[in-house]
Amino acid sequence: SRRGLLFGSAGLAATSLAGCGADGESGALTGHTGIAMPTTTSDRWVVEGADLEKRLKGFGYETILSYGEDNVEMQIEQIRSMIDKGVEFLIVGAIGNDSLGAVLAEAKNKGVTVIAYDRLILDTPDVDYYASFDNYEVGVLQAQHIIETLKLDEREGPFNVELFSGALDDNNSQYFFMGGLDTLESYLYSGVVQIPSDETEQEPTSTERWDRGVARERMTQLLDDHYGERKLHAVLSPYDGISRGVVEALVAADYDPKSDDFPVVTGQDAEPLSLKAIKEGTGQSETVFKDTRKLAEVAANMVKAIVDGGTPEVNDLGSYDNGFQFIPAYLLPPVDVTAENYQEEIVDTGYLSEGEIDEAE
Ligand code: BGC
Repeated sequence: SRRGLLFGSAGLAATSLAGCGADGESGALTGHTGIAMPTTTSDRWVVEGADLEKRLKGFGYETILSYGEDNVEMQIEQIRSMIDKGVEFLIVGAIGNDSLGAVLAEAKNKGVTVIAYDRLILDTPDVDYYASFDNYEVGVLQAQHIIETLKLDEREGPFNVELFSGALDDNNSQYFFMGGLDTLESYLYSGVVQIPSDETEQEPTSTERWDRGVARERMTQLLDDHYGERKLHAVLSPYDGISRGVVEALVAADYDPKSDDFPVVTGQDAEPLSLKAIKEGTGQSETVFKDTRKLAEVAANMVKAIVDGGTPEVNDLGSYDNGFQFIPAYLLPPVDVTAENYQEEIVDTGYLSEGEIDEAE
């Protein structure tokens, strides 16, 4: 299966563990950590950067936080400057999944421990740990929402569905996409689902920089090219920003977001604006919530474990091959969120208040 291909055959234990720290033989680690986040254009990274700093400072460690604004070169420079300032740890939410080899080699030379944060870093031997979610499961949950909402198990169709995937240089994109596509596969074979554009590969469906405007343009084009007489029933969208771009294109093409037969649009990240639409029934109807507070906690605890002389806790050794080795990982479970359970999952857990959702703009 595709899943087998993506995930490798497991069983291979990770080899090298953490680096020995910036101080080398001279002494104890202080926990000095550089946090390189990808962008401020999506809420999650803004919240997590601050959360990571708070947790690490709470342990008494110094931190440096930077945002690469989806610019690979800028992120490399930021990481280089962190190394120059003597960080012992790097927590990196990569922009270009395979562009960090050279700078991470410099880090490794100085004994820095590297934690890939949320997104795996590829093609380098210099990644020590990976903290993330079960990314394949994200796509499974999105596709299941489409299957359940359109009641595909009880109906013959055909239902018209279009697929969107994330940035091509983000390693997570393929996992989201494959999880979704694998889950829809049997409906495609039986003809219950069809994809009028025939765009079923990662590249043509991809969304540069995960950008909402890019998604809106592609959706507009798809509607122009394939939906003259046809009606669209669902869009598999991997991320809330993309989902909102898709909804904008649909609304501009006279689909009524308040009507019951507005296309089913999925999403990810539980962004306030998307939750508002989910709650009010005015567009996107699902998001995959990844509790990023827990992710920040996992990554901060990895640093602490090493500073304390131990080894970070991991729960997966055989899923994420970065091209050099399987990276020891701690993976958290994603959660499907709709109008039915957003209160329980998002509000009751204190992730966002009802007011923050209502007032999102
Ligand atoms: C993250 C998603 C996020 C996307 C866009 C992915 O790597 O896993 O949570 O929606 O990047 O920022």
